[in-house]
Amino acid sequence: MPAQVEIARIAHPNPASDAERAAKMTDPVFGAVRTDHMVTIHYTEGQGWHDAQIGPRGPLPLDPSSAVFHYAQEIFEGMKAYRGADGSVKLFRPEKNAQRFQASARRLAMPELPEDLFVQAVEALVKADEAWVPTEGSLYLRPFLIATEGALGVRPSKEYMFVVIACPVGNYFKGESRAVTIWASRDYSRAVRGGTGFAKCGGNYAASLAAQAEATRNGCDQVLFLDAIEGKWIEELGGMNVFFVKKDGSLITPPLGGTILPGVTRDSLIQLAKDQGRTVHEELYSLEQLRADAQAGEVVEAFACGTAAIVVGIGQIKSPSGDFTIGDGKEGEFARSIRAELLNIQKGLGEDRHNWVRSI
Ligand SMILES: *Cc1c(COP(=O)(O)O)cnc(C)c1O
Repeated sequence: MPAQVEIARIAHPNPASDAERAAKMTDPVFGAVRTDHMVTIHYTEGQGWHDAQIGPRGPLPLDPSSAVFHYAQEIFEGMKAYRGADGSVKLFRPEKNAQRFQASARRLAMPELPEDLFVQAVEALVKADEAWVPTEGSLYLRPFLIATEGALGVRPSKEYMFVVIACPVGNYFKGESRAVTIWASRDYSRAVRGGTGFAKCGGNYAASLAAQAEATRNGCDQVLFLDAIEGKWIEELGGMNVFFVKKDGSLITPPLGGTILPGVTRDSLIQLAKDQGRTVHEELYSLEQLRADAQAGEVVEAFACGTAAIVVGIGQIKSPSGDFTIGDGKEGEFARSIRAELLNIQKGLGEDRHNWVRSI
């Protein structure tokens, strides 16, 4: 089926000048800077994927009754392009994002974009917006799929639009490494067995915002979600997976079981840790056990991971049942070193043992 769809190039009448671009790229706020282009590909039942274009970035013309606005039939991806030391631009495991996009589509009863076409679209945008790939930082890419059929009946849409946009982002960490404080919510859940926890869909995020607001009210940076049935087992943050480092150097991370988003960063860190000869336990781990292990010095570090931040140390956990500190409350040595190792691979500086990097 992967018939090569031709992505038509629509010339941009007035792309940003070098000076405008340079000004916008100085210390960009995450997601705030728009590049010149976007990719759009349409889908209709019967016709399949068609009308693939790359052209000037602009508003999408959508009827107000489009299903995405009412029933949240929407999925997305998040990935980054880095400029390597040799000046070439690199993507990191884009096929993993393409495959996850298909898994998300199946769960949301949406058509699956062929893996090749997903990667082709992302590469086309990176090429068109190459000048927007910073030397420090990266170009964040946001592919997404929305249901565009104008009909208020509750059923899968018959029409969709796939879009890829991009924004230059700075280094999440400007030198210093900071540990975040996280709030273990008792009242809110993110996902439940049979639900959409493993799919990267906007609905999961909409449902997490009140919990995030609760975390902020409690002086925390992020929410830690526990399982929805027993309210006991650690799952993940609103948009990042979590790891714990034991005194013996082994790692613990919650297993993928339908309620956790299978992060590309999570998968990559598991591999890099195993390459170092470490044991990685993908096991259920309760908040109470973590508290006991942290207090006994059995667990010495905790960190969250995802494409945007790569790795961020967790210093403290607060919850309605009390607060506790992990290690010395600062980002640990393992988190710092594994972040550097992964970032080096992504930028083409470190040895790419697993063939993860794709130069374009
Ligand atoms: C995207 C996401 C992650 C991280 O996935 P990466 O592929 O590593 O960026 C983790 N949890 C949730 C809920 C996410 O949406």
